[in-house]
Amino acid sequence: MTDPFCCEEMQYHLTYRCPEHEDPFACPDHIMIFSEDTQTYGIPIHDGGQAFIRIRYCPWCGKKL
Ligand SMILES: [Zn+2]
Ligand SMILES: [Zn+2]
Repeated sequence: MTDPFCCEEMQYHLTYRCPEHEDPFACPDHIMIFSEDTQTYGIPIHDGGQAFIRIRYCPWCGKKL
């Protein structure tokens, strides 16, 4: 198994757990998610749904995901 985190920033945001919101989509502080279903990384759109903007490169270190 490869390390899913390309950098510390990504690790911080992907492992971030808000004490107030169990669902990452419900939390405005949750800016990065990893979708197990599609194996993709994305930025959640906080519109009450489960939508997210897929990203292909890390916004912090630029590595391909
Ligand atoms: Zn929250
Ligand atoms: Zn990174």
